[in-house]
Amino acid sequence: MRAIVKKFSEVGVWWDEVPKPTLKDNEVLIKIHKTSICGTDVHIYKWDAWARKNVPVPLVIGHEFVGVIEQVGSRVRHHKIGDRVTGEGHLTCGACEPCLEGKRHLCPKTRGIGYHAQGCFADYLALPDENVFALPKEIPDDLAAIFDPFGNTVHTVLSFPLTSEDVLITGAGPIGCMAAAVARFGGAREVVVTDVNQWRLALAKKMGATRTVNVKEEELTGSFGLGFEMAGNGDALQNLLKHVKHGGKIALLGILPPGTLIDWDLVIFKMLEIKGIYGREIFRTWHQMCRLLEGGLNISPIITHRFKAEEFQQGFDAMLSGQCGKVILDWV
Ligand SMILES: [Zn+2]
Ligand SMILES: [Zn+2]
Repeated sequence: MRAIVKKFSEVGVWWDEVPKPTLKDNEVLIKIHKTSICGTDVHIYKWDAWARKNVPVPLVIGHEFVGVIEQVGSRVRHHKIGDRVTGEGHLTCGACEPCLEGKRHLCPKTRGIGYHAQGCFADYLALPDENVFALPKEIPDDLAAIFDPFGNTVHTVLSFPLTSEDVLITGAGPIGCMAAAVARFGGAREVVVTDVNQWRLALAKKMGATRTVNVKEEELTGSFGLGFEMAGNGDALQNLLKHVKHGGKIALLGILPPGTLIDWDLVIFKMLEIKGIYGREIFRTWHQMCRLLEGGLNISPIITHRFKAEEFQQGFDAMLSGQCGKVILDWV
């Protein structure tokens, strides 16, 4: 089958022919229709320190997808051939305390498809039955293909009561932009997004931010009940801590560089509440995403580029340019 592969320990990803996955008893075989490129894939492309430490070579990359089940293993109970699906890319152990409590997002043994295990940038993906999410017909393929990052967004933004709050979002990447849309839809009053990339700030505005601030050119003003850190940047976090009110609540989704320092006085004396977020609640967040979209939330403007799978290099170039939202690759 065709696949996009991290083939060599150097910058880049490569188009390749690889064997179709052999199906385990508990897995379904998904014919991939669309995939989406994530910031994580760009880390793997650039072959940065995180990627070098985590990603075995060679590996089919990618973890954001939509497709149709073409084959099921003998122990598959919940899904059937022909189902249109996406899926949770975090493979959990099923045996630890959080897994047994139904809190799979807290499994300490989580492995990710596309960076620890074989990914979805290919004609086929084998996925455990318990990770598959069958899609309501109301959800279009393009949006289903970005349920992974949209799920990170929803998990973060719905962490705290939102209605009537003023919200600060640091980072106008695709997740920051989607967060602006979800926060507005969820009843926030003001939604302010900061970044240093003017193109992306314009996209945040289009997605529903009431104000955008380019912190390279302008000082952030205001005080906020909720703060979401989505830039993975220490300065952005420090700025956010400064501008969240006493008793404010903060969720951290952006992955901060090792050794990031913050002024703990801001946390302690303002009695801030801080929550870390990784992935999605399985499958609570997934149902929330469906209900939000079915209820009228519009995140379509976040998809800015579409390419055929073979044109993946153009997709990665768009991602590397910083002038894009989500980039979709078509496999059929
Ligand atoms: Zn992703
Ligand atoms: Zn577990």
